[in-house]
Amino acid sequence: MIIDGKKAAAELRSELKKKVDELKSKYNAVPGLTVILVGEDAPSKIYVRNKEKSAVEVGLNSEVIKYPADLEEKVLLDKIRELNNNEKVSGILVQLPLPKHINKRKVIETIAHGKDVDGFHPMNVGNLSSGYDSSIPCTPFGCSLLLKQVEKNLSGKHAVVIGRSNLNGKPMTQLLLKENCTVTITHSRTKDLKTECLRADIIIAAVGIPKLVKGDWIKKGAIVIDVGINKTDSGLVGDVDFDEVSKVAKAVTPVPGGVGPMTIACLLNNTIECFQKAQSK
Ligand code: NAD
Repeated sequence: MIIDGKKAAAELRSELKKKVDELKSKYNAVPGLTVILVGEDAPSKIYVRNKEKSAVEVGLNSEVIKYPADLEEKVLLDKIRELNNNEKVSGILVQLPLPKHINKRKVIETIAHGKDVDGFHPMNVGNLSSGYDSSIPCTPFGCSLLLKQVEKNLSGKHAVVIGRSNLNGKPMTQLLLKENCTVTITHSRTKDLKTECLRADIIIAAVGIPKLVKGDWIKKGAIVIDVGINKTDSGLVGDVDFDEVSKVAKAVTPVPGGVGPMTIACLLNNTIECFQKAQSK
């Protein structure tokens, strides 16, 4: 089975559009997403454009604030504080990476945790790892929704997460624990990745190495989610050797068309949740 992330994301967006319509009639207001882009990083510009387009499509108020690469850190932090106090703004996202002279941690910690649609604020990270309600980082959130499409009950499954980044591997681990999986986290210092993978019912690959995960690393019937997006001479490829792995796995996500589209849909979901929580206060 090839897990169709494009279709799943389109279905989620259509549910979210309905939800936004309901919220509009209930509160006479719609959730608002503000994205801040600093500098001219080409992939970031594309991501921000796609986020804006999708936000508008589901009926959110969407705003993009663009700054030059030499922006003073203080100006950015002051803008975030202003947005924190703006009732019309439900979610704030500062597109990463930031220019080197801007302290990423300071920026993340300045965003009010109730408006942190990326789920990177330490309060949200802590809440997620404690099993409490929190904003969930969009890519792992998307991965977990795709996994649930293949298998509703993940309890007792052995999951191997490849990569331990704050963006992907670590929050993915927390989500799998929440589903009662037994989780092994692997990384660049892991001694025998193939053997670890061969024990897995579920593999989440979030590394950034083209086609790292091979067909003979996969237990028959495993579910494989490929987070990697790698530019190569032959186009975009994932961290999984799709041709080999799709012959052995029960289900696998393609790249492109797998996890990528779900990431933005989950961002919209997080924005709507932030709005709802703010309204219920
Ligand atoms: P990162 O560089 O922050 O982390 C990579 C992780 O891989 C590290 O924890 C490192 O220890 C581990 N690693 C490196 N070499 C390894 C090896 N040989 N064996 C095992 N582990 C190894 O990367 P990231 O930000 O988590 O992104 C990972 C990939 O996911 C990239 O290709 C990125 O482009 C992609 N990505 C996709 C989406 C999406 O929406 N689909 C979103 C974010 C990132």
